[in-house]
Order: sequence, then structure tokens, then C-alpha cells
Amino acid sequence: MQLDRLGDFQRSHRNGGLRLADAGQSVRLLGWARKVRDLGSLIFIDLRDRWGIVQLRLDVADADPALLAKVRAVRSEFVLGAEGVVVEREAKNPNMDTGDVEVRLTALRILNTALTPPIPVEDIEGQVANEDLRLKYRFLDLRRESVQKNLRMRSEAAQIIREHFHKHEFIEFETPILTKSTPEGARDYLVPSRVHAGEFFALPQSPQLFKQLLQVSGFERYYQICRCFRDEDLRADRQPEFTQVDIEMSFVREQDVQGVIEPLMVELAKLAGKEVSAPFPRLAHADAMEWYGSDKPDVRIATKILDVTSAFAQSGFNLFRAAAESGGSRRVRALFIPGEAAGGLSRKQLDELGEVAKHLGAGGLPYVKWGKDGLSSSFKKFVEGDAEPALKAALGAGGEGLAVFAVGTDAQTSKVLGELRLRLGRQFGLVDESRFAFLWIVDFPLLEWSEEHARFVACHHPFTAPHPDDIALLESDPGRCRAVAYDLVLNGYEVGGGSIRIHDAETQSRMFRTLGIGEQEAREKFGFLLDALAFGAPPMGGLALGLDRLVMLLAGETSIREVIAFPKTAQARCLMTDAPSPVDPRQLKELHLLEERAQTYRVGAVFFESAEGGNPGLRAEAVQHLSQMTPHQTSGLVTLDESGRILDAQTLHGPTFEF
Ligand code: ASP
Repeated sequence: MQLDRLGDFQRSHRNGGLRLADAGQSVRLLGWARKVRDLGSLIFIDLRDRWGIVQLRLDVADADPALLAKVRAVRSEFVLGAEGVVVEREAKNPNMDTGDVEVRLTALRILNTALTPPIPVEDIEGQVANEDLRLKYRFLDLRRESVQKNLRMRSEAAQIIREHFHKHEFIEFETPILTKSTPEGARDYLVPSRVHAGEFFALPQSPQLFKQLLQVSGFERYYQICRCFRDEDLRADRQPEFTQVDIEMSFVREQDVQGVIEPLMVELAKLAGKEVSAPFPRLAHADAMEWYGSDKPDVRIATKILDVTSAFAQSGFNLFRAAAESGGSRRVRALFIPGEAAGGLSRKQLDELGEVAKHLGAGGLPYVKWGKDGLSSSFKKFVEGDAEPALKAALGAGGEGLAVFAVGTDAQTSKVLGELRLRLGRQFGLVDESRFAFLWIVDFPLLEWSEEHARFVACHHPFTAPHPDDIALLESDPGRCRAVAYDLVLNGYEVGGGSIRIHDAETQSRMFRTLGIGEQEAREKFGFLLDALAFGAPPMGGLALGLDRLVMLLAGETSIREVIAFPKTAQARCLMTDAPSPVDPRQLKELHLLEERAQTYRVGAVFFESAEGGNPGLRAEAVQHLSQMTPHQTSGLVTLDESGRILDAQTLHGPTFEF
């Protein structure tokens, strides 16, 4: 098809902005044909641009033949320039912003054609293509209004963030993408150096050390909206590359950092139409684990985990009594969900919950249920009679409801009940969806024991300051040392985390020692940091927000892929560009990743005494040709690479063949 040129065609109006007040106006519009409806005497085209959709109309009877032919050629997703006059519609469409008007076409330019889209490019209830297909044709998927809305919101959020930090005199920086691999943290993405054989850059997991160094340099307030890279196993809210809003400040306490973030959150929440007020509640990590079994509790569910160990101190139920006698190393903890619905849970539903508990590491799911028919329980004979009122008191159970129990170490019971709390909360409609529930989790432990590495590892990162009251524990009882670290939690998601930093070289060295990083390794890996801390580093602290997760929550989505323009799959692939992909062995060689293990083979000549073939002349010629070759001429060197590809071939006295 002969395409029209954009030429001097200028858009006069935005499609989505046309209203009754524009009736009578001549307009020039641009966009994509969302839908074409040819009714015989009338042809309608819905023209979509970034701002919305308007209906174009052509009355066939009195249309100019050239225009009619053009309009008839239009298919979905063709790119058009339309000229016409806005008129009031006879049949208004209350479901469209522009539903009061339509544009009577007077001229049309077809700026481009389009193949039939392999996925829907508009939001139709129940017609979302499968995600792999959506990601393969992401450029089309991104035409859908819901995705466009998310990405516009992301842009607005970024704008609000920039304005906020600018207003508070933060300086925006760009820190290196090619940086140094350091131990600790997640797995690095590595970039081999071509210039320095055998050496690697790492992509930054975060700009942590650079932002600290900028404090040493005296900038006092740093921020950056930056990309971070972590080679981790992925989940719905993780990507190999993700975006942080990263800040760092000098001469601050944790409240100062939190105090800068809270008003920003208040502003951002407005994007989702939510009113929140600062300051946000603070909850000690230990309490979060105790009450919610999670360090990122969704406090929109009021139900808390209860310690009911002592209610079983005299119980005949051995499993629970043994925990009561364990001196605190094992406890019986429970969740009580009040109400008729919970009390009326069926056997099958309870079995399903039991499976979930097993999946989370529990042996099963002991329960007690008060329903229409009174008490039922998986350990009924131990809770009947005298034991019942005491148990009810321990659970705070007045009427009907369901109690589920977990027994074991705190880590085990938190895992099971933390997850069941969320499930049951959702199942019984206990989540107050109207709220945006921000809170700070504070007083994190500094270190945790890693079975895998048989040593302590940093809970946050190795540059986090120990709590001033706990410094001596660094050597004597590292596991009990608290950190000056804080996470920002929203609706059960960690949306940010930060800490006050170690700002003197000696404490930093002590921390490295506690982490099992020896003097020499510390110098090799972190020499620049130790040097910087020794040259007058100010007290400092900061935080990083996960922008993808934050926008996901603002947009009411449950996957960060919905708020990232070109995300990767859960298998860490870009289905659109098909990355990662194999590269040419030559590139690998340049990067010193493929050893030049090319081998040289000596080849000799092969003589044929006779040759098969239908043409006696040619056969004779071939035999003669071969027989004329002396062994010298036919000896040669052939160089093959590992995969058997011929790189180079030479006869000893003859020409070189190029491959
Ligand atoms: N760099 C840290 C992180 O990525 C955040 C911080 O401590 O500021 O989690």
C-alpha cells in the first residue's frame, strides 16, 4: 500500500480530550485505528492516541470516492492522520469520555499499515493474553490502556520523588554501572574485562559504597533513581534488574532519614487516592516476628499470633506439653480467627490448610474450632472439659471461631503462622483494603547465622552500624547484637530499607572480622572504603526504596512486571529481544572466556587409484590432478577450533585458504 507522508500535518487536538464544547471545530488528529466498523452506509473508526479514543465517521453516500477508498483500506492498528469536523453524536456513548461527539471525516492519511496483532491491544475483560506472549510482543502489550496507565503513574511517581529530594537539597548523582564485585550480598552479574584478561567488573547490587563515599567527600545529601542488579532466584516481586530510589545523608540519626521519607510517602500515596498520615508507626523487629511472624507484616489484618505455651503446661497432649517444658526453646503459638465463617470451616478446607502448613515445614496443623455444633479439634480429648475455658482465655476466644496452632522453634512457628495469618486474613475478608498501612520495622538484628557458610552474615549489609548499646556483643555474642537498621513496610511488602552506617575504620574492621573476612581480604575487597573511613568520614545513614514494588502497590498490581516497561520473565529472560543469547565464539575469545585451545592438525594427501562417476573425461582429469600433487604440496596445516570449525588452512608450499 502506498503510504501517506506526515508532511506538514499538525495535530490540533488530543483524541481523548474532545467534548461537546468542541462541536463545530475542524480538527486534525493522529493515532492508531483501534477498531473499524463498516456498516455499509456508515464507516466508523475508533482513533486512539495517548490521551484517549474518539470515533471517526464517514457517511458512505456522500463521501468523496478517494476518501472512501482510503477509509475502506484501514485495518486495526493502522496509523492515521485524520481531518474532520467535531459533531454531536446522535447516539451518545456514556462509557466513553468522548462519547458525546464524533468526528466527521473530511480527509485521511494512512501513515502506516499494521499486521493483525497476535495479542489483544486493548483491555477486554477476561481477554488478557498469556504472559509469555504479552512479553514477546511487549511493544503491542504496552498499547493497552491499563499498562499505559501504570507506566504513566510510574513516571509521575518518579517526578514527585525528584521534586521532593530537590526541595530538600539532595544532590542527584550517577554512580558507576561497571563496578567491583564484593563478597556478601546476593550473587553478582559479572562483566568480563577485555582489556584485563581474567578480570571482571560486577554490575552494582546497589550504589551502597559509592553513596557512602560521597558523604566522605562532603556532599551531605545524595539521591539517585538507579538500576540495581542481583542474580537471584526470581519471584513475582523480583527482577534481575530493578530500580531503587537511593538516598544517603550525613550527620543523621535514623529518625532523620525516616523523617525525609515519610512526607514523600504521603505524597506518593495520593497517586493511589490514599490518605496516609505521618509519622508512621515503628515496630521492633522482635515484636513483628512475635505478633505477625514476619518482618514485613501486613498490619491491615488485625489478628496477631499468640503465645499459648503456658496453657498447655499441664496438658495431656504430649507434643504441646513438651514444648512448655523446653524452657522456651520451643513454644506453642496460635492464631485465632473469630467468627462464624472461620468456626464453620469444613474438614476439607482444614485439610488444605494442613497441607499448606506441611509445605511450610510443620508436621501438620493442630486446630480447635468453635462452630454451630460446639467444639471440634484435631486433639479434642485434650481440650475438652476443664482445659477448654483456659484455652479460650489464652486465645481471647469469646464465641465462634477457629484456632490453628504451631509448635517448635520461633523460626519454625513464625514461618507457619505468619503465612497462615495472611491466608486466613484474605480468606475471611479481614484485610482492610481501604488502608495504605505503612510502618517502620526497627531494631533488626545485625547478624544472622548462616548454616550454609557456617558463619555469621550481615542481615542488612556489612556497613550497617551496630546498635551503640550492643557494640561489645560483636565479639562476645554476635547473634544478639542489634543493628541501627530499619525497613519501610507497606501492606505486607518491604518497600524500603536502610541503616545508619559504620563511619569509622576500626568498627568496620571489627565488623569484617565478625563476618569472617580476614585482614587481607578486607584490604583487597574493601581497601578503598577502609581508607575513606580513615580520612574523616562523617556519621551517615540512608535508605533505598524499591521503586518497582512501590509503584506496583500504588497501581494496585500484584506483579512488578506490570509496572516495568520491558521486564524479564521469572526465568530471567527477555522474551522480546530473546536475551540472554549465545554470542559469537570470537567475542568470547576477546573476553578471554574461551581459551585459544585451537589445535593444529597435519593433513596428508589422499590419492585415488580410481574414481567413480559418469563422465570419463572428468574422472581422468581428477585422477590426473591428484596424481600430479606431490606429497609436499598436499601436506598442510589445518587449524580447528574446539567445535571443529576450520579457522585456517595452509599447504606447506602452497596458497593459504581463507574460511
Ligand atoms: N543499599 C541498601 C540496599 O540496597 C540500602 C541502604 O542501606 O541504603 O538494600
